[in-house]
Amino acid sequence: MSTPDCLFCRIVAGEIPATVVRETATTLAFRDIDPKAPVHVLVIPKEHYADVATLGQGDPALAGEVLATAAAVAEDEGLLGDGFRLLFNTGAYGGQEVFHAHAHLLGGAPLGPMLARSVA
Ligand code: 5GP
Ligand code: ZN
Repeated sequence: MSTPDCLFCRIVAGEIPATVVRETATTLAFRDIDPKAPVHVLVIPKEHYADVATLGQGDPALAGEVLATAAAVAEDEGLLGDGFRLLFNTGAYGGQEVFHAHAHLLGGAPLGPMLARSVA
């Protein structure tokens, strides 16, 4: 199921161009348009889920396929040795801007602390 006004559904449909680095039957990985690290790839389920919470609860197997694709891209990009960061911004506090579940795969340089400042 896709949502016509969803940016990432439109990328899946080929209506908006993207630099795709890996595609499976159920997932798509493409480079972020505004990279925050030397490697910044977004990994999404092709099916529309608003965020990782609805994806994880609605289709845990598909959530696992997103992780498997992220791991394969990490290997392709040469990130397994030095490491990388995989994150899902979720909702308002998480800073989510595109409401189609996506993992950010970040690497290629030391990424610094997990958060820019402490929120404790
Ligand atoms: P969020 O803040 O929702 O976790 O992340 C959304 C990400 O999508 C951002 O890092 C942003 O740069 C990326 N993005 C927004 N529009 C496009 C686009 O049209 N193409 C690509 N490849 N990435 C996009
Ligand atoms: Zn979507």
